[in-house]
Amino acid sequence: MSIVSLPELLAGAEKGRYAVGYFESWDIYSLEATLAAAEAERSPVIIGIGGLSANHEWLSSVGIELYGAACQSLARRSTVPTAILFNEGESFAESAGALGAGYNCVMMHTQGWSWDKLIADTSALVAASHALDIAVEGEVGALAEMTIDGQIDTSIGAMTEVKQAIDFVDATGVDCLAVAVGNVHFVTSDYVPKIRVDRIQEIREAVDVPLVLHGGSGTPADQMQAAIAAGITKINVGTKLKYVFGNALTAAVGQETDPNVVYGSRFDADLNTVASRALTAEIQRLMQVFGSSGKA
Ligand SMILES: [Zn+2]
Repeated sequence: MSIVSLPELLAGAEKGRYAVGYFESWDIYSLEATLAAAEAERSPVIIGIGGLSANHEWLSSVGIELYGAACQSLARRSTVPTAILFNEGESFAESAGALGAGYNCVMMHTQGWSWDKLIADTSALVAASHALDIAVEGEVGALAEMTIDGQIDTSIGAMTEVKQAIDFVDATGVDCLAVAVGNVHFVTSDYVPKIRVDRIQEIREAVDVPLVLHGGSGTPADQMQAAIAAGITKINVGTKLKYVFGNALTAAVGQETDPNVVYGSRFDADLNTVASRALTAEIQRLMQVFGSSGKA
C-alpha cells in the first residue's frame, strides 16, 4: 500500500528540493491517467478532485464519496507514494464532507473570506481533520484569475503578506500553506504570470510549513523551477490538464464510429483513452519539470 500522508510527501520534496504535483482529475479516465504518469515516471503524486470547477450539489450528494472511493481503490494499487486531496472545497461543510471519504488531505477555497472567518473555519477544519489523521492545506492571499474571455481579473488577487502567513499558520496549525505570489488560476492562453520568487523566499524563511503554488497551468517551466528553488514543494495543475485532454479528444472525434468502442471500451479507439494518453504524457512532462521523476 502506497498511500502516504501529504506532510510525509512534502517533507521528502523539501529534502530532495523538488515539488510534488497535485494533478487535478475529474473522472476515472483522468484519475487513472494521472497514476499512469506517476508509475511511468516513478514519481510521488497527489491525486484528487477539486471543488472549484465541479457542481457542488453533485459533490455533496454523492461526488465526494464516489470519487474518494475511486481514489482509494486506485491509490492502494499504486506503487509510488500517493496522497489523496479534496481540493478547494467551497466551505467548511463541503471540505468536512471529505473527511472519512477516502481523502488524506483537504483544502478549502477561502479567497475573499474575512480574516476572522478564515481563521475560525480553517482552525475548525484542522481540528476535525487532525483527529482523523488527515492533513489540511490552508491558503492566505488570493490568486488573480483568467476569465472565460481570456482576460486576467486582477481585482480579486491579493499577494500573500509575510506577516499574514506567520499569523495564519500560528493561529490555525495547517500542514501546508498555499501562497499568492503572482500565480494566476485558470490560465489557458499564452499569458505569462510573473512569480515573485523573492516573496516565496521571505515566506519560506518566516513559516515552518511546506509552501504550495496553485495556478500551475499558466506558469512556465523556468518560473516553476525558480519557485521550487525558493521553497515551493507542491504545485497544483488543473486547467492545463483539461485543455490537453480536451484537445486530444476533439482531434479523435469521428475517427471511429462504433459507439461501443468509442465510449467506455478502453480500447485504443475509445475517445477518453486517446485523451488519457495525451494527459499522461503531459503529466509526465510536468513531473520532469518539478524534479519529482525518479523520486518514488
Ligand atoms: Zn487552485
